[in-house]
Amino acid sequence: MAEPIDRPAELNAAEKTVREAGGAPAEVFYRDDGRMEISFMIPGDRNDRVYTFLWDRHESLMTLGNFVRSKIPRASNMEVNSGVEGENTCECGRVWLLAKRKVPQRDKDDLSCNCGKKLVRWNGGCVWTAQLIKDIPSGA
Ligand SMILES: [Zn+2]
Repeated sequence: MAEPIDRPAELNAAEKTVREAGGAPAEVFYRDDGRMEISFMIPGDRNDRVYTFLWDRHESLMTLGNFVRSKIPRASNMEVNSGVEGENTCECGRVWLLAKRKVPQRDKDDLSCNCGKKLVRWNGGCVWTAQLIKDIPSGA
């Protein structure tokens, strides 16, 4: 079994790899069996899924990066251009009125709820606007 060398650096490196691949590290720690357990989320994933990767210490961190990247297209493709006009209730309870209008030039952007959740992402000849029609009590 490999000697534990500079553990914090290894944990930091794993977190950095997750971030660079586009993920948001949630928890990184060593399991009793010596493997590193790395859980992360994909920003903008409306299901807030938590993915877990078990890393053997002799493995390249590239494996981790590839794993993170493999989760991203699914999470983001789901949302691009998939907005629904009208009332949209966010998971936090706020209700937004989403509207789309066509624009001559290509536009690529997104709108987020106050809680940070993406409401809609687009990439095409339209822009979206979001109007808050029902807020949640602050501090709730
Ligand atoms: Zn929200």
